[in-house]
Amino acid sequence: MKVLKFGGSSVANSENIQKVLAIVESASKKYKIAVVVSAFGKTTNNLLLGADEALKDINSSKEILENIKKLHLEVIEKLITKNKEEVINEVNTLFNTLTSVYEGIYLLQELSDKTLAKVSSFGERLSSYIIANAANELFNTTHKDSRDLVITNNDYLNAQVNFEATNANIASYFKENKHQVTVLGGFISSNPSKETTTLGRGGSDFTAAIYAAALDADELQIWTDVSGMYTANPRVVKQAYPISQISYEEAMELSHFGAKVLYPPTIQPALRKEIPILIKNTFEPEIFGTLICNDPENTNEVKGISHIEDISLITLEGGGMIGIPGFSKRLFETLSIAKINVVFITQASSEHSICVGVYENDSTKAKELLDETFNREIENKKIKPVIIENDLAIIAVVGESMKDYQGLSGQMFSALGRNNVNVRAIAQGSSEKNISAVINKYDAEKALNTLHEQFFEEKTKQLNLFVTGVGNVGEQFLAQIHQQNQFLKENLKLNIRVIGIANSRKMFFDNEGIDLENWKESLENGEPTTLERFHSRVKHSNHINSVFVDNTANQQVSEIYEKYLRSSISVVTCNKIACASNFDNYKNLKHLSRKYNASFLFETNVGAGLPIIDTLKNLINSGDRVNKIQAVLSGSLNFVFNNFNANTTFHDVVAAAQKEGYTEPDPKIDLSGVDVARKILILARESGYKMELEDIDKNAFLPEDSLKTDNNEDFYASLTKNEAHFQNIFKEANDKDCRLKYVAEFVDGKANVGLQHIPSDHPFYNLEGSDNIVLFFTDRYPENPLLIKGAGAGADVTASGIFADVIRIANQ
Ligand code: ADP
Ligand code: ASP
Ligand code: MG
Repeated sequence: MKVLKFGGSSVANSENIQKVLAIVESASKKYKIAVVVSAFGKTTNNLLLGADEALKDINSSKEILENIKKLHLEVIEKLITKNKEEVINEVNTLFNTLTSVYEGIYLLQELSDKTLAKVSSFGERLSSYIIANAANELFNTTHKDSRDLVITNNDYLNAQVNFEATNANIASYFKENKHQVTVLGGFISSNPSKETTTLGRGGSDFTAAIYAAALDADELQIWTDVSGMYTANPRVVKQAYPISQISYEEAMELSHFGAKVLYPPTIQPALRKEIPILIKNTFEPEIFGTLICNDPENTNEVKGISHIEDISLITLEGGGMIGIPGFSKRLFETLSIAKINVVFITQASSEHSICVGVYENDSTKAKELLDETFNREIENKKIKPVIIENDLAIIAVVGESMKDYQGLSGQMFSALGRNNVNVRAIAQGSSEKNISAVINKYDAEKALNTLHEQFFEEKTKQLNLFVTGVGNVGEQFLAQIHQQNQFLKENLKLNIRVIGIANSRKMFFDNEGIDLENWKESLENGEPTTLERFHSRVKHSNHINSVFVDNTANQQVSEIYEKYLRSSISVVTCNKIACASNFDNYKNLKHLSRKYNASFLFETNVGAGLPIIDTLKNLINSGDRVNKIQAVLSGSLNFVFNNFNANTTFHDVVAAAQKEGYTEPDPKIDLSGVDVARKILILARESGYKMELEDIDKNAFLPEDSLKTDNNEDFYASLTKNEAHFQNIFKEANDKDCRLKYVAEFVDGKANVGLQHIPSDHPFYNLEGSDNIVLFFTDRYPENPLLIKGAGAGADVTASGIFADVIRIANQ
């Protein structure tokens, strides 16, 4: 004998029920089958909604009922031919009774638990009756009302089963019953006075387990809309996968802590008789699913992660509790008499406080009752009034063999900490089947994904990017990620997703990752950008390993890094403004990066994609000291002075540099030397020196009137006007057989930038195109400096430098 249970979505419409019938028919070829069904789709919810509505508006409650009826008649229409009239008559009678119950609710203005149980029972009474008749047209089937067999106490909505009476009823009914298949409703039962009771929401799983145990079934199959019990709720964690085998205890812990796929009480009856439970997907029956049994084959020490939302913490605290017995007894007694379920308990070892987790909708009542219970102690100031905190969630990491491994809780909490998930309370059972933590409920999704990555996806790490600035550099950057994604997945086990993009006008988000083939179109149809809104969207989307990427040269964008770092969101930027702003701000950003465990990387601030800052960091971290830096750091100025001569004009060469993408959007920032000054400032600061931009000697070669312009058009006009001045600069150098290079120097704590005449035997002389070069003279490289040289400007190399920073974050 086997018991097969089909949940609400498996019987949501005639098409699904046909799948169910095929599964039952095939199983019934070898075994006698008891089929336990839920109400069709969302019928239980709708019936309860209608009852609630009946208190206010009888017509609207009847409309709800009409819709429920329509669904049931549609199923009959599609699946039943032979007994159609009789079935329709019976169903009409049931709906007439329901209408009378609603009218009763309306007239009496009373909706007791007893009435609620009665109303909600109609879902399973209807579904089991209709499915039994539909099945009987295909194979030998009978219908039985579970209320005749499952006997409970008087807790109408959460009734406790009298197993003695129930088991006897079931055994004697099935002894007589010669049908190959019997269809029964889940969830419904009756008390000894034959009033309808129910086993709690989701209780059909439990009904099926009760039948399986009473009948000593070979197997209990739970057919649902997912392919088993997953490593985490698959609707919240996309990477979750079905657990192939799991023990009864582990399954119980997971379901107790929120894995809705199995109603927690279900396990007990099956465990007692050691009946294997198989969880299967009605819509993909060929997939194996999950087997719950006594000694599962599975090597992973952590089996799954689950969570419960809408939890409140109740804290009882005060010095008056220390050493005095009975406080916890009175606490639990009060909650238990009021039937308030305690989901979670911790107690400080000082006995100074006890903290319990309850469902949020019980919290107000719990506080009232507890304040009353401890009234005297509170008045005498022995303890404080009971503290309630709402909007919390519990996450639990479950696995029976966790106790044999060291460091799992360490891994759990450091992963949460890295992702800025604040842990409010912790409990670990001494059996160590489960470690659970209370967190803010808005962090639940992130926490689940974090822990899933930690315990189940060691092999693939996910980074979630939010990219602002999609001009030259940004566009190249997105193209490089798009092109490289597959390679990174395969070779670095790294999954980079772009979740948000913005330019100055529009922003667009997709929590599943933006399609990088069509991002331009998506962005055009996005919402208007503000920096505040972008930040708030990044923060609230609350993804693990989030990185904010700044590809702009914008002051306001750079001012908001602090907010990202404070939310533990890493920042990668090619924008030099922040690192070249006042020293305190630069220091503060580095401090926040450490404090909040978020990277702050800006390799592209100097020399585009060249590994200059990273190399410098390695020197400093390994104990070296920088004494002197000499560098040509402006790809744009290098391009300009490499191409400028007696046969060209300064104006045309600068225009060409801008066209090639070598200059800042405002070329004056390069030509005035400000850009180079910022770069040497950053290198000095990264070398450990405290310095401000004003401290740098800037030897300007631009005439006054060019420096004074405030837009590109006027700036270019002034270059033309001053052509003679520029030709003169060229001639002076050329006459000495020197080349012009714009050089940055840092020596003995002082820095300067300016044009220099470079003779042919100098390492800077042959610097081509837009190349950069840096010479580091350090304690370890005193005479022969460490030299880094290569292309130091251009959108593609800058984008690849940003990309390298992003990968650095992944590798940390
Ligand atoms: P049924 O109507 O078949 O009883 P339920 O809706 O009660 O189905 O349970 C199935 C749902 O449980 C899934 O659709 C999924 O959203 C949820 N769920 C939560 N945690 C898990 C988990 N760890 N594994 C599988 N499903 C889970
Ligand atoms: N129909 C009931 C409910 O929705 C029982 C079940 O489906 O398990 O809660
Ligand atoms: Mg269910």
